Amino acid sequence: MNVAVSTNKRFSRQLLHDGFAEDHQERLRSSTVLLAGAGGVGGQIAYGLVGAGIGKLILIHSGDLEIEDLNRQTVLKESAIGLPRVEAAAERLREYSSSTIVEGHDMPITTESLAPLLKGVDLIIDARHNFPERRAMNRAAFEKRTPLLFTAMDALEAQMALFVPGSTGCLECLYPDDPPYWDPLAFPVFGAVAHALGAFAAMEAIKYVTGFLKPTERLCLFDMGDYSIRKVKYRRIEGCPVCALLPIASVYASNTHSERNPGSLPVNR
Ligand SMILES: [Zn+2]
Repeated sequence: MNVAVSTNKRFSRQLLHDGFAEDHQERLRSSTVLLAGAGGVGGQIAYGLVGAGIGKLILIHSGDLEIEDLNRQTVLKESAIGLPRVEAAAERLREYSSSTIVEGHDMPITTESLAPLLKGVDLIIDARHNFPERRAMNRAAFEKRTPLLFTAMDALEAQMALFVPGSTGCLECLYPDDPPYWDPLAFPVFGAVAHALGAFAAMEAIKYVTGFLKPTERLCLFDMGDYSIRKVKYRRIEGCPVCALLPIASVYASNTHSERNPGSLPVNR
């Protein structure tokens, strides 16, 4: 197979976009994304990135696939029930495209466990559902000066924000406290809502790593009940234990605007 010819054909439809040129495609090919979460949201993000031609995808998720996970899976099938889900997901993604190097890591996420995986990573994507792992990713991202794309959902609502060290605030600024009601096994999930959020996040990641379009600088709030989308500022907390020591060069340096941070954090399933 002539790989060069097949690669050009593979991505020819996205190269029809005004402003998305071959150098953008090359930036995608030379980019590495670390994606935490191989569930409903993360699986859709993975398909979006691998389909578009991301060069390397590092996928992290601990645990085996269970039957109650299947209403929202895109990369996992019934035959993977009882098996480590990240390995099954990585194998499906490799079948989808040989243009992407896919690594799968079946492990819990801590700041320490992430550290050796972050070398060469251009973007971290948070598609997890629990606060310890979210906060560990946030700390690791700002320590390594690596941008973090945050995604979350609960029922018909979803959220997305891109945290850029040295330019924006962080997850701790947005959600300094865990919501007291949080239970990772007690939130309703339609697969379609998870997939919609995953599609938005994949596009945001493509915009960021290629420079094709400017990523949104706000927290995006989606309501799949009435299809409304809001983009809001969020406060950067002075003295934030994660991001306050970094110089800020954007509007997020200001802590004086009137917008309040939104309420409790939904979770990915
Ligand atoms: Zn912060």
